[in-house]
Amino acid sequence: MRYLDSLVNITHRARHVQGVDHRLTEIYLLGNTKALAMDFMRSLPCVKRVIRVQEAYRVLGRHGQEDFPHQFEYNGVTFDQKSLHVFAGLCAVDTPEHVELMMKALQENGQVCTRMGAYKPRTSPYSFQGHGKDCLPYVFELAGKYGIRIIAMEVTHESHIEEIDKTLEDTGHPCGVLLQIGTRNTQNFELLKCVGRQDEYPVLIKRGFGITLNESLNAAEYLASEGNRRVIFALRGMKSNLGDPHRNFVDFSHVPVVHRLTRMPVCIDPSHSVGTRQKSPDGLMDVMHVTAQGVIAGANMVLVDFHPRPAKALVDGPQALLLDELPLFLEDVRIAREAYLKRVALFQPD
Ligand code: PEP
Ligand code: MN
Repeated sequence: MRYLDSLVNITHRARHVQGVDHRLTEIYLLGNTKALAMDFMRSLPCVKRVIRVQEAYRVLGRHGQEDFPHQFEYNGVTFDQKSLHVFAGLCAVDTPEHVELMMKALQENGQVCTRMGAYKPRTSPYSFQGHGKDCLPYVFELAGKYGIRIIAMEVTHESHIEEIDKTLEDTGHPCGVLLQIGTRNTQNFELLKCVGRQDEYPVLIKRGFGITLNESLNAAEYLASEGNRRVIFALRGMKSNLGDPHRNFVDFSHVPVVHRLTRMPVCIDPSHSVGTRQKSPDGLMDVMHVTAQGVIAGANMVLVDFHPRPAKALVDGPQALLLDELPLFLEDVRIAREAYLKRVALFQPD
């Protein structure tokens, strides 16, 4: 660090990455770095590797580091490009009773993660906007009661993070929260900066539904450039008339692409992609089919809408799966995951 301090026209920033097995310190040099000799940098004490970053995603990008996994643990759950977690839950919190039924079903099925929308960005200003901070106390307390460790929850404003902070504090931290940036806010740069500056909560950022993949990955990089590298990238379908008959055009073939371009774990959201409960003649709902397609391509997280009484849901009832479909859904995910792992083994060099 003393040597780096002595460099003219070059500044540096260090970030610590705590993985499950080891802790890395990454030092980013900015400025006239062309003048630096790679060999010399490599010979400095404690330096394991020197990488010249040319591509766009400086922090989250892969930069050829196949053997340097980016892994993080939050509230006892580990995220990386190898793991898989299902976050089944309510699109929007409506009543304490529905939250409790949902969480009870998750516990009965061995699940420790869920989704619960409190702040809902809606197309129409007259639609239900979510219960906001009023529902947080019972949502967090019920999570604690049913052993839920992490709730994925969208925030649309900086103040929502403070409300989450305060309620977790008041309720004695019964669970953790994965802050979600919705597709409508993927390029809300000021929100991204706020969410990136805090490091209490990891972040799930959704791909923008009408922008390029590169633009969405740069949005994720905003979070990391502000300091929060615990970022998961979610595919949730793209707006396109070609998406008919689905709500959005399913883009889960991009799971391996995001794995290749970045070090982020990749989530798929089959509910907001498909948007219906329609079934094909083989008896499987489209939501199940696309989930399997994402998982067999190596997805690391599945964010999916369930509801105990979809007819009573205030948001997105028609796409929700039923609680008694949860065991089937999880078994279907397990089958696709097993197939993915077999495929990976098949292509490993001897
Ligand atoms: C959601 O997950 O509840 C949601 C609103 O998703 P999206 O931002 O992908 O539309
Ligand atoms: Mn929804």
